Amino acid sequence: MFFNSDLFLREAEKMNIPVQPRQTERFEIYARMLAEKNKVMNVTAVTDPDGIAVKHFADSISILTAADIPQGARVIDVGTGGGFPGIPLLIMRPGINLTLLDSTAKKIDFVSEVVSSLGLTAEAVSARAEELAKEPGHREKYDFCVSRAVASLNVLSELCLPFLRTGGIFISMKGAKASEELDAAEGALKALGAETEKTLDVKLGDGFERKLIVIRKTGETDSKFPRQYGQILKRPL
Ligand code: SAH
Repeated sequence: MFFNSDLFLREAEKMNIPVQPRQTERFEIYARMLAEKNKVMNVTAVTDPDGIAVKHFADSISILTAADIPQGARVIDVGTGGGFPGIPLLIMRPGINLTLLDSTAKKIDFVSEVVSSLGLTAEAVSARAEELAKEPGHREKYDFCVSRAVASLNVLSELCLPFLRTGGIFISMKGAKASEELDAAEGALKALGAETEKTLDVKLGDGFERKLIVIRKTGETDSKFPRQYGQILKRPL
C-alpha cells in the first residue's frame, strides 16, 4: 500500500467530503506513481503512507471546504509540482476544466502521465506563471486559481490573480504565518484588483494545520501585471 486509505477517508469525513471507492482507487494509483517517480526524481519529500494520505491528499482536497468547485469550472493550479493540490481536486471533481502549471518540464511530464493513467483529463502546461498569464487564452479566463507552497502571498498574488476573471476566486494554501502574509499582501491585492473574502482553518491529522486564504477578484487586473519575476521579487507590490 502506497498511502493509508483508511486515514485519508477519516480525514475526508471530518471535512464532510464524501469519497467514492472509484476515487480511492485513483488515489492509490497516484500514490504508487509518486513512489515510483520519487526513486528517479525528487517529486516530494513526503513519502510515507500516512504522510501521503494527510499532507498531500487530505490537505489538497481541503480546498473543497473553502469553495465547492463545481463541475465545468475552469481551474488553474499554479506551481503544481508533483500535482498538488490540482490532481486530488481533479479526482474529487472529474468534470472540472483543470490546468496544471509548472515551470519545470519534468514535473509537467509526470503530472500529464498521472492524469492519463487515472483516465482523467487536464491541460498540463510547462511555463512560468508570469508569462502564461499574459497569453490571451489564459489571462482573466479562470473561475478558480489554487496554489500551495510556491511563494509568499504578496508575490504569489501577482502570479495568480491575472489568471482570474472578475468574480473569480483565488485559494492560497498557507500555514501558521497566514495572517502575517495576508497583512503584507494587502497592497498587492488592492493593486491587482482583489480582496480577501475569508480565511479558513482546517485541522488535519497529527496536528497538521492548514489555513486557506480565500481571495476574490473584484476588477480587471492592469495589463502591466504580472511583471517579470525579478521585478516581482525585488519590489513586491
Ligand atoms: N504545489 C506543489 C509544489 C510546490 S514546490 C506542492 O505543494 O507540493 C513549488 C513549485 O512551483 C515547483 O515545482 C516550481 O517549479 C514551481 N514554480 C515556482 N515558481 C514558478 C513560476 N513562476 N511559474 C510556474 N511555476 C513555478
